[in-house]
Amino acid sequence: MRIAALRGRESFEIEEVDIPTIRPDEVLVRVVVNGVCASELEPWLLGPPAGEARYLGHEVSGVVSDVGADVVGLTVGDRVGVWVLDRGFAEYVAVRAAYCFPVGDGPLDEALAEPIACAANAVELADVRLGDDVVLIGAGFMGNLVQKLVGLRGVRQLIVADARADALDRAAAFGATRVVDVTRESLSEVVGSLTEGRGADISFECTGTQGALVACGDTTRMSGKIAVVGFHQGPPREVPLAHWNWMAFSILNAHFREVSTILRGMSIGMRLVSSGVLSMDGLITHRFPIERINDAFRTLHRKPEGFVKAVVTFPEG
Ligand SMILES: [Zn+2]
Repeated sequence: MRIAALRGRESFEIEEVDIPTIRPDEVLVRVVVNGVCASELEPWLLGPPAGEARYLGHEVSGVVSDVGADVVGLTVGDRVGVWVLDRGFAEYVAVRAAYCFPVGDGPLDEALAEPIACAANAVELADVRLGDDVVLIGAGFMGNLVQKLVGLRGVRQLIVADARADALDRAAAFGATRVVDVTRESLSEVVGSLTEGRGADISFECTGTQGALVACGDTTRMSGKIAVVGFHQGPPREVPLAHWNWMAFSILNAHFREVSTILRGMSIGMRLVSSGVLSMDGLITHRFPIERINDAFRTLHRKPEGFVKAVVTFPEG
């Protein structure tokens, strides 16, 4: 089978390797789609240490093609979203049956279980309540996912901020009650005027940037919640903690490492996707065959107008 091996800076090479053998509690999944994750961009840009290879890919969906002797509840031909830590940019992955979630008949490129699980867990952690006023900063792929799930919770207002016109158009199409172009308007003023000066019950930070983090402190009400969904890397972040402390914010780290939590989020997400309650329509904007995996990463890096999410695909047939 083919697998993409990262062998240098911005350089995957397609290699031929044996199809993985499965243990009794595992299934073999023929990969149909693997999402290109923003967290993989830096590894791709930097490349592995000289002489080494890295095998990325953890947003896999596909079709079960073999089942181990101890596996119950999954059969050959089942379409699943799966959780793997790596080696997903390949024609097959061996994965524990417990890490596979049926997705029904829907398109497999909507069944990116891992990012959907992160978004579902973020919304669960923030405990979005009926009638809440919610601010969401950053209308990229993760922000869009969180927005769609918050929308299922019956909030009063869902105010989405971004600096890109195409992202704001998308957020509006997904049901934002107000979109704010932060290059033209003050987000905190808009939120203040829409909440009678009170601030939002919850602010979701979905950019992974210093600026958005600080902005959450100006959009959230006293004793409200700030959920950090963005992937924060690079230099240490600074927040005006005296103000945050005084405002009695609950600061929620919406990054999940506990396997049981991740699996629960996947289960929730795949139930919603397979039943059509959560639509990923409009989120997968760029598709590349495995031979063009470097183009997929390049596209994520450049983020052309209208870009939301790139995936690497294999023919499903
Ligand atoms: Zn990911």
